[in-house]
Amino acid sequence: MNLAEFIIEVESYNANIDIPLIRKAYEFSDKVHEGQERESGDPFVEHCLNVAFILAELHMDSATIAAGLLHDTIEDAGATVPDIEKEFGREIANMVDGLTKMSELKFKSFAEQQVEYFRKMLLSMADDIRIIVIKLADRLHNMRTLDPLREEKQRRIAMETREIYAPLAHRFGMAKIKWELEDLAFKYLNPSEYADIKKRVTDSRSDREEYIKDLTAPLKTSLSQADIKSEITGRAKHYYSIYRKIVIRGVPFDKISDLLALRVIVDTVTDCYHALGIIHTLWAPVPDRFHDYIANPKSNMYRSLHTTVIGPRGRMVEIQIRTHAMHYSAEYGIAAHWLYKEGKKTHGEIDKHMAWIREMLEWQREMTNPEEFLEFLKIDLFREDVFVYTPAGELKQLPRGSTPLDFAFAVHSNIGFHCQGAKINGKYVPLSTILKSGDEVEIRTSPHQTPSSDWLKIVKTARAKSKIRHWLKQKGFEQSIILGREMMEREFKKRRLPHPPDPELSDLAAMNGFTGTEQMLAAIGSGAVSPQSLVNKLFPQEAKKDPSLMQKFVDQARGVSRGIKVGGLENLMFRFASCCQPVPGEKIIGFVTRGRGLSIHRADCRNIGELFDEPERKVDVEWDVVKGQSFLVKLDILAEDRKNLLKEITEAIAEADVNVRGGEILRGTAPATGHFVVEIQNYGQLRKAIDKIMKVKGVLSAYRDNPGEHG
Ligand code: MN
Repeated sequence: MNLAEFIIEVESYNANIDIPLIRKAYEFSDKVHEGQERESGDPFVEHCLNVAFILAELHMDSATIAAGLLHDTIEDAGATVPDIEKEFGREIANMVDGLTKMSELKFKSFAEQQVEYFRKMLLSMADDIRIIVIKLADRLHNMRTLDPLREEKQRRIAMETREIYAPLAHRFGMAKIKWELEDLAFKYLNPSEYADIKKRVTDSRSDREEYIKDLTAPLKTSLSQADIKSEITGRAKHYYSIYRKIVIRGVPFDKISDLLALRVIVDTVTDCYHALGIIHTLWAPVPDRFHDYIANPKSNMYRSLHTTVIGPRGRMVEIQIRTHAMHYSAEYGIAAHWLYKEGKKTHGEIDKHMAWIREMLEWQREMTNPEEFLEFLKIDLFREDVFVYTPAGELKQLPRGSTPLDFAFAVHSNIGFHCQGAKINGKYVPLSTILKSGDEVEIRTSPHQTPSSDWLKIVKTARAKSKIRHWLKQKGFEQSIILGREMMEREFKKRRLPHPPDPELSDLAAMNGFTGTEQMLAAIGSGAVSPQSLVNKLFPQEAKKDPSLMQKFVDQARGVSRGIKVGGLENLMFRFASCCQPVPGEKIIGFVTRGRGLSIHRADCRNIGELFDEPERKVDVEWDVVKGQSFLVKLDILAEDRKNLLKEITEAIAEADVNVRGGEILRGTAPATGHFVVEIQNYGQLRKAIDKIMKVKGVLSAYRDNPGEHG
């Protein structure tokens, strides 16, 4: 293709095109890329022209087409943003700049780098959404001309296309580009499967065309009798979607019944429903395969009616019914909105897409764990929705895989926070139940119910997850305040100092860079600062008395502050209760003590009953152990006294790969009692050690040092 041919083609699509601008952009690009070749040996500017042509086919505006011509001039050819701005103005320079920044990113397999990649891409899109349309056109032409590249490079680019660009095209409703990208990626990533499916589709072509006629003829007649003007087309499904059906359903090619998609395009929405009725009287619909995406558009704004019917000769066919406008929008997505809208930038659907981009950026900021963000992004990119109802009949749209807890948060945050149980279609179900379209969901709330970290494992939507996380963080903050206040008071008491009035405390907070007294107390409670150091600042003369006091405290806090996570909060001061000596693998619970931080008990510790008379002191905690970290456990043993008992028990413990810190056998009583302090990494190891000890001749019992519990 040369410039003259390009212009003729483009003018046939779009009479409003700014030819002088296109010409100028082409000449600039041609000059900058002069002498550069693609791997195929073609001049580089051919690529730019092809990208611009894809954009023209999408009916993008003149500025976008010009930016398409210029898209590689900075990255590969050394033009600068000011150069382009001078020649073409801010808008175009901005798009080229955004594309260049995107190209500098190399997609990596590490989650953190992937997140960075997506973040930059989202930022560019948030700036000007047309950038993603140009990027997709660029990628499409690169995929179409992948052959001359080395196999390794082909695979890398194809993988990136399948993982990122096809889903993005889908998210922005650009079905035509998505399918082509997916089929091309399929061709390079699974060459033999691709060849096989392609051959089978080609071989079955005459049969398929015959069948399409069998469907079309009676349908066309019935529709025109009802005065409905229609266009009916039938085609085989795309190679990659056939491949996915084969893989997902685990059935061979010839067993897939709905390889064919029939599309009926009519003038009005009323005609859509009317046509649907006619189709269902001609052929029996397959239950549960009807979807009304007109009343409930998909999250990428796709609209259509879908039904599957048993067609002639008992074959299943999927039929899509839509208006011309819906069809256009389904094929071109966001790109559709620039058609005949030269110069006009905003549009309702574009705003919705922009809102999605901003929402993604916000979640990305909120989520500290990159794997989690990627998971959400993937759910959202490939998002398929379920439609469920409130008892009042109000419709809620949620991503597939959502649970009643997601539903509760979708209704209202406060319903989510106090969600106690759920009924689906009148029956009580676990909160982790997966919702299905058409379910009626009723949420039971209780003012006493509040979120726990377990909820994070139940919910699927980012909205619910970020609300729960926020709540837990807030709760952790409040608990740190209580803890910090008690630690501070204890410090005053211990050193026989007067408790200062509130204004003095708030001065102390300000002097130490805290925004308020509560923030200071929370910092003490979470172990970030020691109460001693702050008290010393209030009473400088006292500080001199014991210079090592603070250091002692810091050492002590450090020594124990590993192994436990409290609702996402780290560095909380805590210690393990000596009454039950929990080890990883056992359920645990935290209890806010007066002045000594959190004490961690086993959930089944018999002391818990009395401790928890004050439920506000109870804190949910989780193990957070690093590899190799061990916990001291004291074991009590009763045995018949004999020679070598100490040695044999020590050996038995070592056989369980457990270190013995110390041990003794007290004689003179019958039976003899022994005490061993061992280093335990988890519950399984503890069980093993106790089992080994019990096998030693003469041992009557071995148990953790917790009266009442025998090992
Ligand atoms: Mn390019």
